[in-house]
Amino acid sequence: MNFFMQREKIMGVKHIVVVASGKGGVGKSTIAANLAITLAGKGYKTALVDADLYGPSVPKLFDLEEERISVVTTEAGEMMLPFEKYGVKMNSIGFIVDKTHAVIWRGPLAANALMQLFKNTEWGEIDYMVVDFPPGTGDIQISTLQQMQIDGAIVVTTPQILAVNDARKGAEMFSSESMNIPLFGVVENMSWFSPKSHPEEKYFLFGNGGGEKLAKEFNTSLLAQIPIVQEVGEIAEAGKNLMACENETIIEAFSIIADTIVDQISIRDSFPKTNLKIAVPTVDNCVDEHFGHCDHYTIYEIDENKFIVGEEIVPAGNGCGCKSGIATELQLRGVKVMLAGNMGDSAKEVLRISDIEVVRGCSGDARQAVIDFLHGKLVDSGVGCESHGEEHHCNHNH
Ligand code: ADP
Repeated sequence: MNFFMQREKIMGVKHIVVVASGKGGVGKSTIAANLAITLAGKGYKTALVDADLYGPSVPKLFDLEEERISVVTTEAGEMMLPFEKYGVKMNSIGFIVDKTHAVIWRGPLAANALMQLFKNTEWGEIDYMVVDFPPGTGDIQISTLQQMQIDGAIVVTTPQILAVNDARKGAEMFSSESMNIPLFGVVENMSWFSPKSHPEEKYFLFGNGGGEKLAKEFNTSLLAQIPIVQEVGEIAEAGKNLMACENETIIEAFSIIADTIVDQISIRDSFPKTNLKIAVPTVDNCVDEHFGHCDHYTIYEIDENKFIVGEEIVPAGNGCGCKSGIATELQLRGVKVMLAGNMGDSAKEVLRISDIEVVRGCSGDARQAVIDFLHGKLVDSGVGCESHGEEHHCNHNH
C-alpha cells in the first residue's frame, strides 16, 4: 500500500491549479492566463507556469515575446527570475528557448525541462500557481502530475463531441486511482457567439451541452461557459490584459471560476488533516521482535511531508500480542500500520481486520524503521521481512 505518493511541493507555493485540455486550440492558455490575472486582481499572490512545451503561449499573451529569462545564483543553486505582469509572476519555456530554433522535446528531456520551470524558478510566496498544462495525456503529462502536489484541475473543452471526447481522456487521467487529483470542474469555451448588434441572440456554432455532459460524467461542476467574443482574441493577440475588456459575461465567468477554486480549496483546508500513525512494538527504542510479549508500543505520527511529528508510548496491557485487545486499542488511536518483528499469520490477520497493515521482520532502531518504511525501504516478505536500508543496531540483546 502506498500511503504517500512521492509528490513534491514547490517552495513558497501554497496551492497549484492545473488547467488542462484534451487537445490544443480549445482556449486552455487563454483561460489559464486570465484565471491567473483574475486571481491576482482579487489580491492573491499568483503565479503562472506555461508548461505547454510544444506551444508556449504565455510570452505572446503577456506581450513579452522578446524577453529572455535571467538567472541568479542563490543558496538553492541557479534560479530563474520570473517575469511579472498584470500582477502575475510567470515563467515559460518560451522565455528560455529561442523560438527560431525548432526544439524537439523528447520524453525525459521534456519532463526534466518542465520540472525545472516549476522548481528552479524563484517564485517567492505564492498563494495560487496556475499551470497551463500541455494538452493530452502522454508520458510527460503523467510524469509531471506524479511528481507534484497538485490541488486540483480544470478541464477546458469546447462543446463539440470530438473535443469533449478528448477532454474526457484528460479528466480520466486526473481522476484515475493512481493520480487521484480532484477536478475543480469543467470550463466550456467558445460556447456560443452573440453578434455585437444583437447581444441577446446566441448562436451555438459548435453544438450545445458538451461541457455540461462532461461535468456530469465526472460528478463535477460546469464552472463556466465562455462565449466566443472577438475582443478575447484581439486582446490575446495584442498581449493586453483581458480584465480591461468590456464584455461583462467574460469578466464574470473568470471571477466565478476563480472564486469556486478558492472556495473549494479553503473548504478542503478546513478539514482537519489526519496524519498517518504507525505503531511499533518497542523495547529500549528498538523494534521488539517478540510482538507477543512486548511491553509497550510506540505510535509515531507522520505528517503529509513524511516528517515524524509525534511520538506516544502505549502500554501493551495484560496478555500477549493480539490477545490483549491491542488491535482494537491501536485502531481506536488511528493506527494504520504496524512495523513488527516476528508475527504469526493469525495475529497479522487480527490486525488486518482492525484495518492495520503489518510489515513483519523489522528490527533495530524503531524510529529508523519508521523512516525506512516511509521511504519505501521496508517490505513485508512473509514472516521475515528485511530492511533494505542500512542496518541500525541496538544496545540490547534479542
Ligand atoms: P489552447 O491553449 O487550447 O491551444 P488558446 O488559448 O491558444 O488555445 O486559444 C486558441 C485561439 O482561440 C487563440 O487565438 C485565442 O485568442 C482564441 N480564443 C480562445 N478563447 C476564445 C474566446 N472565448 N473567444 C474568442 N477567441 C478565443
